[in-house]
Amino acid sequence: MENLLVWGFYFLSLYAFIPGLVSRLFGFRVFKKGLADKEIALTFDDGPDPVYTPRLLDLLARHDARATFFVVGAHAERHPELLQRMRDEGHTIGIHNYVHKTNWIMRPKTVKRQIALTADVIKRATGQAPSLYRPPWGIVNLFDFSKKGQYKIVLWSGIFGDWKSHENSKKLKNRLVKKLKPGEVLLLHDCGLTLGADKDAPAQMLEALQIYLEEGTARNYRFVTIPQLIELTEKNKANRPSWWNRALAALWLQYENLFHLVFRLKAVKAGDGGKPVFHYRKVSYSGPPIELREGVRIVKGDKVAEIHLDNSMLRQAALRSSSPVAVMIRLLRQMDHALPAVSKAVLNDPEMSTVKALYGVTMIHSGTDKLGFQLFDLPDNWFAKVSRLYLKLLFRVLSAKPKKKPTRSSSKKERGGPSAMYPRMLFMSRRDMESYRSTAAPASQNAEERNEMPLSVVAGETPVSPTVIS
Ligand SMILES: [Zn+2]
Repeated sequence: MENLLVWGFYFLSLYAFIPGLVSRLFGFRVFKKGLADKEIALTFDDGPDPVYTPRLLDLLARHDARATFFVVGAHAERHPELLQRMRDEGHTIGIHNYVHKTNWIMRPKTVKRQIALTADVIKRATGQAPSLYRPPWGIVNLFDFSKKGQYKIVLWSGIFGDWKSHENSKKLKNRLVKKLKPGEVLLLHDCGLTLGADKDAPAQMLEALQIYLEEGTARNYRFVTIPQLIELTEKNKANRPSWWNRALAALWLQYENLFHLVFRLKAVKAGDGGKPVFHYRKVSYSGPPIELREGVRIVKGDKVAEIHLDNSMLRQAALRSSSPVAVMIRLLRQMDHALPAVSKAVLNDPEMSTVKALYGVTMIHSGTDKLGFQLFDLPDNWFAKVSRLYLKLLFRVLSAKPKKKPTRSSSKKERGGPSAMYPRMLFMSRRDMESYRSTAAPASQNAEERNEMPLSVVAGETPVSPTVIS
């Protein structure tokens, strides 16, 4: 008897549990989360319900949101008009078995029948054959994997216990808002008739969802169907850099953080979400004499505020832009936005009082003259060579999308690439910074704020090393 139980357990494990685990752990042939910028997929199980589904459809329509409904065949059969409405309003319909039973206790043949019956109901109501399947309770069995190609199994990345009634919908709303993130696949229920669910639970779900949708719309999220999210995910994955590039870039950014910490660079935040755009520190200028506007002269030994572009910002700009030109434009816009803040930070910083100019070495110089910088070529020495090499490498790591492997010559042309680029020196005199400060300067920076915003100033002199806006 005991043996039988053990074997029974093993069988069940193999049949249902382990495949379920495998699919969860590895996302094997199962879609449960997307890769997107601003898209989220809402999915609703167990319906349609004559009371709650129409209310849900109204709510979605008000927010111009598309969703995916995994319907129970027996429910769908009674309400073909709701399925038609889903179709007409741009939603996607998938299968959630004919009756709400777990595949764990069904024979493969029975599961197959459940799916086929429900597919028929959907096709009869809408004229469209479904292509998505979500097994009840997400329990996938070996059979589901054997059905190659016909149905895509869709699980979820967020589940909220919305099938149970709570004192109010606030808790549910809070849980939902935490999952207001791109690529999420949210599982909710528009019917409370399933075993273990509360009949009126969907009413609270609708209340919470309304707030979630309002918040999501305000933050520019788009609510799309599963097929739309899958398509986007595939596109984004194809454009994503290889894993080693991501690892290398992560390392580089880590190294930069360390560099900033060791040499005590201060961050200047501005623009999108208050992320750092520039970092600066005081250094002694060591290059050839430079003549700036209005007779300002920078010579060896003069103190300058060396600025660096934030590399994670550079990385983001590179990943989000389709061409090098677009990267430049994006960065210039960020710099334009942050320059008043950086001028102000440096001018207000007592430790920068001896600084004669802003100074940086960068590949990204075309257009910076419009921002008020003066550009100079690097002297032809080892420092220039090292800078060039460093910046080339940096640019390649941060902006490369090595999945496309173009030929050597075309890659240079296409990217307008690192090899076509060369670093130059940027300067902006203290007087020009002052005029910057007087123009529309964002984010007031009083003495208190200064303590927490930037890190702290450089102590003394540091080696030349990556003296770059990088
Ligand atoms: Zn269900």
